[in-house]
Order: sequence, then structure tokens, then C-alpha cells
Amino acid sequence: MNQRVFEKSGAKVSLLGFGCMRFPLDEQGRIDRDKSSEMLDYAYRNGVNYFDTAYPYHDKESELFVGEFLKRYPRESFYLATKLPCWEVKTLDDAKAMFENQLSRLQKDYVDFYMLHALSASSWATMRDLGVVEYLLSLKETGKLRHLGFSFHDEYAVFDDIVHYCDWDFCQLQLNYMDTREQAGIKGCELAKSLGIPVVVMEPIKGGSIANLPDDIVSVFSDLRPSDSAARWAMRWVGSLDNVKVILSGMSAMDQVVENCETFTDFEPLSEEEKNVVGRVEKMLHARINNGCTACGYCMPCPFGVDIPGNFKLWNDYAMYGNKGEVIWQWTKQFSPDAKAEKCAECGACMAVCPQSLSIIEDLKTLQSEFDQLVADSE
Ligand code: SF4
Ligand code: SF4
Repeated sequence: MNQRVFEKSGAKVSLLGFGCMRFPLDEQGRIDRDKSSEMLDYAYRNGVNYFDTAYPYHDKESELFVGEFLKRYPRESFYLATKLPCWEVKTLDDAKAMFENQLSRLQKDYVDFYMLHALSASSWATMRDLGVVEYLLSLKETGKLRHLGFSFHDEYAVFDDIVHYCDWDFCQLQLNYMDTREQAGIKGCELAKSLGIPVVVMEPIKGGSIANLPDDIVSVFSDLRPSDSAARWAMRWVGSLDNVKVILSGMSAMDQVVENCETFTDFEPLSEEEKNVVGRVEKMLHARINNGCTACGYCMPCPFGVDIPGNFKLWNDYAMYGNKGEVIWQWTKQFSPDAKAEKCAECGACMAVCPQSLSIIEDLKTLQSEFDQLVADSE
């Protein structure tokens, strides 16, 4: 297993990190502890020493399970990462109580890597104003916390603001070859590098979207390396970024653990030719989008509650990846019914301000009927 070093602390971390949010489930929908333990054990025995959990994962069961599981190994032989659920923190005392609660849930005396979870402009403002960062920095002095960072989901400008606030030990970003311009993106990764802040990457296969690509796209990869999966290409793309220290994979089956361990043992960065192939795939996928919504948000808020960029993002993702199951789940279980395309009252306010001059009203009608059909066909 390849390792990379956090220069300031000297921590030697495995390039593959085990994301503890997608364990296999039992019939009750709880973590299947036998199967998950086997996967964690295989990963550990093959050199994975970074385990990333969080308070809400698996309906709050992940920290409990992972903390218990890791008792079987010497404490200094692994790095345990978890996160402060910022949305639960209304006062500084809430943050203090939550951290102590997490230590107890994990059955540990200290956390190796601790993050403010999923920072956005608003949650960051709350954490900053409550003095949570200063409190967490004081925990570093006591040894209860070894590295302080944050995970992030917002625009680059917000990242720029947060990353300059203090001397963070690391940050965790969503990054894959399709998302180089999303959120902090590759620009954020470069900024972190220029400030000497190591990056941990999440969503390297975009929640599975770029692990299960249409056949014509897969053949572009397999022409060059017939035995490599699309997932391996995506992992190698991320691992080729030199400021990336850990790549998290939320593995849910043993075959994924085995393949990932292989990918990150004697890791091969992408050659120039391979980088060009990934660039070609990225262009082929982007060429499939239905419309060119950039999610700029100028059209928002819609007076009738439609989440215009949210609708288009799902529609475009489906056009690119053909990920039917994921889209149906998002549309039926995650997307607010009040924000769906069908709520459009055709007032035209959005069309007047869209810099891409999109036919928003027509496109919303089309996507609503396509998704209705998709759901009907699946029933
Ligand atoms: S045209 Fe439809 S989507 Fe656009 S602002 Fe009006 S109601 Fe909202
Ligand atoms: S203004 Fe146009 S491009 Fe921007 S989010 Fe709205 S629909 Fe998308």
C-alpha cells in the first residue's frame, strides 16, 4: 500500500482511506457487522491505515461500529478521522459536548483527524462566530485531537475564505475528473497546495457515477488498458495529484476493497497518454448534457419554489452517466416535491436573467415528463 506523508506532523497515511458511510447492510437496514468487519480487516491487513467516519453516517451507527472494530488493532497503528456535525451546534458548549460524546462513541482517547463537517458559507459563519475553531485548536494542545481540518461543500470563493482563516492541518474536498470545476475544484486543490495544506479527497468516483459508465465510454479506457475498470481509472486520476494524501472510498463490497487495495499498492500515476484519455472521456461525457446550466443561480429564487439548477443538474447527470437507479432514488426520495420542475408556473422571471439563455420553461417540462416516465417504468 502506498503511503503519503503529512509533512508538518510526519503522519504516514495510506493513499487509500476507508470511507465508513457505505457498509453493507443487514435485513433490518443496519450495518452488516460480519461482512463489514471482513472488509475492514482485509483493508487493514493490506496496508490501509486511514479510516474515515462521521457522526451521522449509517443513522449514527458508523462511529459506534468503527470505534468498536478498531479496538482489535494497536491504537498507534491506524488513523481515525471523524467530523463535528456543524448543523447540531448552536452554542460553543454544544461543540464541546459533541466532541466528548464522539470520543466516547468511538471508545478512543483522541481523534487523529477531526473536521468541521460539510462546511458551507452559512455553517462556516456560525462555527467561526461561536469560536469553535479556537476551541478545537485548544484540543490539539491537549492531544485529544491530532490534526484539525474541514470538509467542504460550497463555491470556490467560500473555500478561499475558510482556507485562509487559520493554519489548517488538512482539508477534505470532493474531487474527481468530472468535478474539476465544481465546488472548490482543482483550483481549490491548488490553492491548498500553495498554502501547504494537504488534501484528502472524497467522492473520487462521483458516488459511483464514473464507475459504471456506458459501454462506448468504457471502450475508450479499455482500448488502452483492457483489464482496468473505469473505477480504477478514476482513482488513478485522483492519485496522480501530488498534494492529495488520502483518497477516500466508501466501499460497500469486498470486491471493491480488493480492487482498491490493488490500485493503491505500487500505485501507478497516469502517464501523459492516459491523462489525455481521461480528458477525452470527460469531454465525451460532458457532450451528452441536455442543457448548459452552469448552476450560477442567477435565476434563483424562483417565486414558485422551483429549484431550477437542482432540477437541471439531475437531468444532466442522468444524460451523462445513464445512472437510472441513482436518479430515481434522488428524484423520488431526496428531491423536495415542492422544488420539482412541475411546480413551474411559467412566469418567465428566470428566462429574463439566465446568462446561458436557456429555454428554462421548455426544459423543465421535458425533464419532468422524462423523470415521470422513468419512475413509471421502474414500478
Ligand atoms: S418560469 Fe417557472 S421556473 Fe422560471 S421563475 Fe417562473 S415559475 Fe420559476
Ligand atoms: S440562470 Fe440559467 S445557467 Fe444559471 S442556474 Fe439558472 S438556469 Fe442555470
